[in-house]
Amino acid sequence: MALLPFDSLPPYKSRRFVPPGADLGDWSQVGPLFDQLEARARECANVAALENWLLDWSELSAALDEESAKRYIAMTCHTDDPEAEQAYLRFVETIEPQAKPRQFTLARLYVDHPARVRLPQDRYAVFDRDTRLQVELFRPENVPLETAEAKLSQQYQKLSGSLTVSFRGEERTLVQMGRYLEEPDRALRQEAWGLVTERRLREAGKFEELFDSLVDVRQQIARNAGFPTYRDYAFRRLGRFDYTPADCERFHEAVETEVLPVLRELQADRRQRLGLETLRPWDLAVDPLNRPPLRPFERVEDMVGRTQIIFNRLDGGLAEGFQEMQNLRLLDLANRKGKAPGGYQSTLAEARVPFIFMNAVGIQRDVETILHEAGHAFHALATRHEDLYAYRAAPIEFCEVASMSMELLGNEFLEEFYSEAEANRARRMHLEGLMTIFPWIAAVDAFQHWVYTHSGHTGAERTAAWTALMERFGGDVDWKGYETARANLWHRQLHIFIHAFYYIEYGIAQLGALQVWANSRQDRARALTEYRRALALGGSRPLPDLFGAAGCRFEFSRATLAPLVALVRAELAKLPS
Ligand SMILES: [Zn+2]
Repeated sequence: MALLPFDSLPPYKSRRFVPPGADLGDWSQVGPLFDQLEARARECANVAALENWLLDWSELSAALDEESAKRYIAMTCHTDDPEAEQAYLRFVETIEPQAKPRQFTLARLYVDHPARVRLPQDRYAVFDRDTRLQVELFRPENVPLETAEAKLSQQYQKLSGSLTVSFRGEERTLVQMGRYLEEPDRALRQEAWGLVTERRLREAGKFEELFDSLVDVRQQIARNAGFPTYRDYAFRRLGRFDYTPADCERFHEAVETEVLPVLRELQADRRQRLGLETLRPWDLAVDPLNRPPLRPFERVEDMVGRTQIIFNRLDGGLAEGFQEMQNLRLLDLANRKGKAPGGYQSTLAEARVPFIFMNAVGIQRDVETILHEAGHAFHALATRHEDLYAYRAAPIEFCEVASMSMELLGNEFLEEFYSEAEANRARRMHLEGLMTIFPWIAAVDAFQHWVYTHSGHTGAERTAAWTALMERFGGDVDWKGYETARANLWHRQLHIFIHAFYYIEYGIAQLGALQVWANSRQDRARALTEYRRALALGGSRPLPDLFGAAGCRFEFSRATLAPLVALVRAELAKLPS
């Protein structure tokens, strides 16, 4: 594909099942491969034959995954090329819907296979429980309900994406309005915040109605699958084998007792620096000393070069990986016309190499993003040796440990980008951000626990439940005159609408990342060795083992959180503002 930033890369291991020249965008070539796997599942009688079959299935899954990834990369690097878009959409619309039920059939054949129980447990336990779960939860009557859920989710995205305001004679999206909250001019900030808030509130009725429909559909899905509440169903569906709703509740309590006091201190500090009586919702993003934004680099090559130096100083193995990505041109980082917005890390599943996409423009957020995405890339590189496709990816709770740790570890060397004072300012922003995000995660998670365990609740009861959570987790922000806006604040959190219950993962991962960072304060070389060892396990072990290998506890109570918050607080005390 000519539109890719990198040359074609050979598979990490030569193919043994999928024909080397196969066109994976052509179902007439893909379908027969599924036919063959289905027929062979019924023939293979012993453990060795079943393991061999699993590897061939892995190879096909990886080949399809890489085909999809390449088309996605080509499209996002060339949004102005209609052919690239067509090629991606063709794959999503014709190959994926046909492959999905066939993948499910293979999963069922595996689960029903007589030799399955004789597979070595230490090797296959995680794969086995994940695949069994997939088969156990399937209900044909839920297929149309899942389609209905997806359509409602799409309506949420459409509605929130369509909102604009008129500001200074120009129509602007709510995302574009975000940057005015960083303006030193307080009246301007208030005006911008007020416009956005008012615009969202005008759609409050629609957001509530959409959410009611989503809750109804989800509860029906759960009932069909034999679960008393959608919360019980969601915990299974999300593969949460290793923690329970009670663990999440312990996390909420820990955030309340450990993080909230620090958040209140930080808010008081901000209020004093800004010289204000009270902190209003539009005072939270501006620099408290009214300094201009940080400018870490001019040219993207400088960003890459300095990031390379940071990894050189951190760990030889990681440094080599990042250098290799540059050599193979697996980075497309500069913002330019004709590129999709945002950033992501993607993996070419057959070549077993990572790719990073970004839109760097020279702000501190770019430095955070490259460190974060490089963490994901290191994870992909660390699992190259793994032949079972499913094991080359870890659960999200641990994937984000890989990336968030790299932000904290990389921040130790920010002087590559800044003067010492500026580097400290960036570090402060990062750590303050953590103290702000933990309470928000706890509120968003606790809210969903409430919603799905109070069936038949009224809109007013739901609003009251959210308002109580804002009292618990909001800190000292003065919402006087904007009480309704605060009561509806959850409307802006996409996950609540389109990925139910999926959010606390970021809190859990941040607990891991802070532990890796804390360990590195004691012994950096050892912390990095453990980090790399844990990454190399991919998804082959349960979460407590992955955390354990990284030198972390997989536990969300005060006992884990308190020392980490104490470290952040001590660090903040050392950093001049
Ligand atoms: Zn990430």
